Amino acid sequence: MAKLEIKNLHVSVENTEILKGVDLTVYQGEVHAIMGPNGSGKSTLAYALSGHPHYEVTEGEVILAGEDLLEMDAAERSQLGLFLAFQYPVAIPGVTLANFLRTAINSRRKADNPDDKGIPIPEFRKLLKEKLDLLKMDHSFAGRYLNDGFSGGEKKRAEILQMATLQPRFAVLDETDSGLDIDALRTVSEGVNALRGPGLGVVVITHYQRILDYIKPDFVHIMFEGKIVESGGPEMALLLEEQGYDWIREKYGVKA
Ligand code: ADP
Ligand code: MG
Repeated sequence: MAKLEIKNLHVSVENTEILKGVDLTVYQGEVHAIMGPNGSGKSTLAYALSGHPHYEVTEGEVILAGEDLLEMDAAERSQLGLFLAFQYPVAIPGVTLANFLRTAINSRRKADNPDDKGIPIPEFRKLLKEKLDLLKMDHSFAGRYLNDGFSGGEKKRAEILQMATLQPRFAVLDETDSGLDIDALRTVSEGVNALRGPGLGVVVITHYQRILDYIKPDFVHIMFEGKIVESGGPEMALLLEEQGYDWIREKYGVKA
């Protein structure tokens, strides 16, 4: 089983250190939740993993399937099987979701084999139909322009469809900051559950524990002030539901 290993990761944004030594190992087949109060660095972790130029890694390493992730550009990270979903995906008017997915698949194939001529259309149609059915999505959905006028729930749906067709080894889903409506929450959860399996490791980043009523994580981590301060099983999410984050602030916060 391949693993995604984050070791002592320090990340700065505009010369301010946000992540102060994050350690996390995720094996394929596992679902991890990262929870934590707003501003604790959860999204920073996701952006750093994506290779976003604004997020400077100053120390530590990230190893994906034995390779140094931090040496790769965003495309190479994706080709190696890392998928990242952000809360605010960009709209691409004029490009249908189906075309976008086909382009993504083809760039992945070309990276594996420079002579690849792209996925044959019938094969792509079959794959797309299979995934739309798996995710219980209407077939007309793939014909719409990517994220153009999509509702929050539809954006999530498009994201999950991307994940289903790209078949990554590891997916990091940042769902935080503003509340997803119940429809979007269900979409993400049902999608992740449908795709869950031995070949996929998932990191669900969330402020709210309610998504974990739908996606049962194997491990729950609490991030606070740029570090993972507690790790446990699913019971940790319930503890947070009952007690909120105050005990974390008291235990780990700087005393006044
Ligand atoms: P979370 O996702 O846990 O709410 P973030 O990773 O978004 O936390 O933010 C952690 C800290 O980093 C916050 O103090 C935030 O203000 C700061 N931060 C994050 N991204 C940026 C950015 N692009 N520019 C400046 N500050 C940032
Ligand atoms: Mg966030």
